Amino acid sequence: MLSYRHGYHAGNYADVLKHAILLQVLKSMHKKNKPLAYIDTHAGAGGYALTDEFAQKTGEYLEGVAKIWDKDDLPESLQQYIEDVKHFNQGKSELSFYPGSPGFVDMNMRDKDRMVLHELHGTDHALLDEQLGSDKQVRVIKADGLKGLLGAVPPLERRGLVLIDPSYEMKTDYQDVPNAIIKAYKRFSTGVYILWYPVVKRAQTEEMLKMLIGSGIKRQLRIEQAVKADSDEFGMTAAGLWIINPPWQLDETATEMLDYLSPLLNQGGGKITVKWEVGE
Ligand code: SAM
Repeated sequence: MLSYRHGYHAGNYADVLKHAILLQVLKSMHKKNKPLAYIDTHAGAGGYALTDEFAQKTGEYLEGVAKIWDKDDLPESLQQYIEDVKHFNQGKSELSFYPGSPGFVDMNMRDKDRMVLHELHGTDHALLDEQLGSDKQVRVIKADGLKGLLGAVPPLERRGLVLIDPSYEMKTDYQDVPNAIIKAYKRFSTGVYILWYPVVKRAQTEEMLKMLIGSGIKRQLRIEQAVKADSDEFGMTAAGLWIINPPWQLDETATEMLDYLSPLLNQGGGKITVKWEVGE
């Protein structure tokens, strides 16, 4: 049974990086005036109330989006992100709501684009379906997103952005996730794939990433934000995005973004990494 609920973590430092980079990738892909399919394998609820018991219990958003919400010196790479968070809060001065990945994409979809969203948790699936299910450009599916991904690629449009954002509740995720990406890539090698990963135990994360590095897939970029040094103690010390086929200059954009975020979000002993792990 799934017990993970993203509501506890919505708007934390990992979400800031994930969603800000997601928007930058989307913006680059929108430069071509052709239809795009967005496939989210682990979509979550679509949006979250930061005033509810989940967010209030952990207060994680206070160490994330709340630190940049009212800054007036944001680099260009974070401006759209904060504009969207403000839009989701209906322009109110208080930060009370936070969009999930489908919420961000929804705010930036063109008429020719579509979304395929997978969410397995009953409650979060129902919330997602309520938020976006009636939109003709959106399919909300209550099924395993890793299996769903294989059915969804290649998209008819032949242009696709895939977000793989698992909760890593099961130990097997660390093998199942790279295996699914490798299979999906074999069917759709021109897609852009964004994998989100946590660092709880560094060795476990690197084992998973090594499977991708050794897969023969070209063009793999690591964008990682550690807010603390690696540790054997319980808890996430870093979070990253592993991007296959990143748009041109995403490495430079990510560096600008992390140079700005790091002094605000670092909790002591952290560091940032933007590195091509596999080149052309
Ligand atoms: N992508 C969301 C965002 O950025 O707002 C957050 C997703 S959260 C990290 C992971 C979600 O995956 C949870 O809502 C969980 O219920 C769901 N989930 C876990 N295993 C799944 C699976 N095999 N297929 C689809 N969804 C799954």
